[in-house]
Amino acid sequence: MPVVKIADNGKLTLPEDILEGLGLASGDSVLIEMDGQRAVLSRPPAASGPGVTERLRDAIRRKNLETPMRFIKGVGPKMAELLARKGIHTVEDALYLLPNRYEDRRKLRRIAELRPGCVEVFSAEVKTADSVASKGGRRFFEALVSDDSGSLVLKWFQCNPRYMQGIWQPGKRGIFTGEVVVYGSRREIHHPEVEWLKAGDDVAALVAGDPVNFGRTVPFYPLTEGLHQKSLRKVLKEVVDTYSSSLTIQVPAAIVRRRSLLPVSAALQEVHFPGDAADLAELNNHASQAHRTLVFDELFFLQLGLAMKKQGTSFEEGISFTITHQHTRPLLKLLPYALTAAQKRVLSEIKEDMASPGPMYRLVQGDVGSGKTIVALLSALLAVENDCQTAIMAPTELLAEQHYLNIHKLCEQLGITVCLLSSAIRGKARAATLAAIEAGEVQIIVGTQAVIQEKVEFKRLGLGIIDEQHRFGVLQRGVLKKKGVNPHILVMTATPIPRSLAMTVFGDLSLSVIDELPPGRTPVTTKVCFESQRAQVYRLISEEVRAGRQAYLICPLVEESEKSELKAATQVAEHLAVDIFPELRIGLLHGRLKPEEKEAIMHSFKAREIDILVATTVIEVGIDVPNATVMIVEHAERFGLSQLHQLRGRVGRGSQLSRCILLAGGKLSEEAQRRLKVMEGTTDGFRIAEADLELRGPGDFLGTRQAGLPDFRVSSILRDARILEEARQEAFALVEQDPRLSSEENFLLREELLRRWGGRLELAGVA
Ligand code: ADP
Ligand code: MG
Repeated sequence: MPVVKIADNGKLTLPEDILEGLGLASGDSVLIEMDGQRAVLSRPPAASGPGVTERLRDAIRRKNLETPMRFIKGVGPKMAELLARKGIHTVEDALYLLPNRYEDRRKLRRIAELRPGCVEVFSAEVKTADSVASKGGRRFFEALVSDDSGSLVLKWFQCNPRYMQGIWQPGKRGIFTGEVVVYGSRREIHHPEVEWLKAGDDVAALVAGDPVNFGRTVPFYPLTEGLHQKSLRKVLKEVVDTYSSSLTIQVPAAIVRRRSLLPVSAALQEVHFPGDAADLAELNNHASQAHRTLVFDELFFLQLGLAMKKQGTSFEEGISFTITHQHTRPLLKLLPYALTAAQKRVLSEIKEDMASPGPMYRLVQGDVGSGKTIVALLSALLAVENDCQTAIMAPTELLAEQHYLNIHKLCEQLGITVCLLSSAIRGKARAATLAAIEAGEVQIIVGTQAVIQEKVEFKRLGLGIIDEQHRFGVLQRGVLKKKGVNPHILVMTATPIPRSLAMTVFGDLSLSVIDELPPGRTPVTTKVCFESQRAQVYRLISEEVRAGRQAYLICPLVEESEKSELKAATQVAEHLAVDIFPELRIGLLHGRLKPEEKEAIMHSFKAREIDILVATTVIEVGIDVPNATVMIVEHAERFGLSQLHQLRGRVGRGSQLSRCILLAGGKLSEEAQRRLKVMEGTTDGFRIAEADLELRGPGDFLGTRQAGLPDFRVSSILRDARILEEARQEAFALVEQDPRLSSEENFLLREELLRRWGGRLELAGVA
């Protein structure tokens, strides 16, 4: 029988076999009972979480929240259908349909008291109403209403005068709502809302009898099509009053106190039907305590999930690398330049990760041209120094080939073997490559998605690098990871994801930013031009080419379809070669070419055998030809901001001044104008990304939901970046204390987390 010694600090260390026998691990509690003189150790009764009643109550609450909307008072089949079309099926959906604005109808004012610039509510009588022509000949409808304190003009600019005449009859009384504007010296309201009073109706009684629509701060909901605000408001009042109390288990009480939040049910009440003390401006900015509560709640659960994923990964055992400098030092000597401070910093972050026991999961963000490739290669050399293979995965054949050529050229001099694996490598060559990878004869494998196909077996994968991460789904990360035993994972992206977004989408990764371009780059000058300036644009190209430089001309489509006027790359190339620049060498690059053909063309462009490369967006990603100094983008209005930024990154890679001309075809929508303006105004990828996010919203921004971006019910990543940060701190702190949320007090929290994340906790991540 083992004798266990009590240490000086009073601690008792139990031998492994006893722990095992009890089914316990270090950190667990042990029950000690005295049996006469002897202490008996046993497993404490399993923590069962909250009692049966509490669980039952929770189940009932959940069931309540799933009540279909058609069971709600005031919701007929037609309304249920309209709501369903907007994605509102259950009571819970409705609770999270938040008003997009509010009006202060706490008090009816007299006309004399109406304040310009405010949305006011007042009751008055129609004096006159008629269709009027302005001096410019524009017709509008005008009504004069008055009470005993004065009168006011109401105006409508788009309406059917006949119809209006029928409704707006002198003598009728109503309650009017609208924003008071000052026009000359007169106060007016344009397009007011009206609630007609019946003859003999008493205003005070009507207002008192309709506490949902009057005498309070009134919510306005974003759905209008076929749904009337007033009936929707009534329905929501019913839903909120009856069901908001069903939402109970949310953020832990200590955090609610620390961050001065409300209970979620109270927050929902307040957000829908604010109390008397509510501040209108705060409500309208979605900045009230109630709004903050709901946003925090949503983001907290998001971050909690990410924190658990991250914890999960740090429990894994990784390959801990030793930093020997055996290959990295010689490589640095080979480079014609010194690393930038940002590159060095990111590299040391990577080294630290790789040298620690857990596997690395790091996202390296760096604007186009910031020099991510060399950071990737140096990381790969760390793996080589530790007898491990590295797989580098690029989104396109072209990019994989380019990486391969660059990396191969350098590695050859270091005696390191590199191979290319893409769908272009077939037959015997492919079989030989696969065999070499499996035998561990190849140390660095560069390729496309082909790298993660089933057939590929690595001898010992120590590092997986994914370039241009935004082009891949989150799933690829997982597959790549499974190609080895917890290899280190490095993902790189040139899409400068705003920090707030990175924290939500890649919140389970560590983040490094290369926030500095290599020295000697001159920012690209960007100009928006129109069809009428085409001749000048061509002149610019020929000047640059005469000075020994090269140009890109980007087209949106490959072939001209009958319907569209889009410039087709093929036709454009022909036109340039025949009619415009017969003396210059024109190349054509598009997605329908075979990989060998593409490669041949890129080769000749790099070798300066082509002066003007006409291309589709296949060149968007990562292609590096420093001698190219002009880029013309045809139909620039058709491209998204991030895409334009990526495209533009193909020029300005040398020390000469580079130019980018955004040729706008035809009339531009307001949004397109804004986009092109942003491009003219800045070359800062982060500013562009912020603008893009603002213009398009986060879902579109990353292209897809493959990015694993959740749908937000109440939060906005841009507006709520601060709360996101707070929620993240709290969530990560909580998971640090209770990594599996297995404590009794966190039981319901864990249930709620699983419910909100659905299957995504395992699926979406690197796990
Ligand atoms: P990206 O981050 O867009 O992938 P690349 O890795 O393709 O950028 O690098 C762009 C260019 O900058 C390449 O020609 C590369 O050789 C060069 N480069 C990278 N780092 C430096 C540096 N520290 N100093 C000078 N040039 C550099
Ligand atoms: Mg790159």
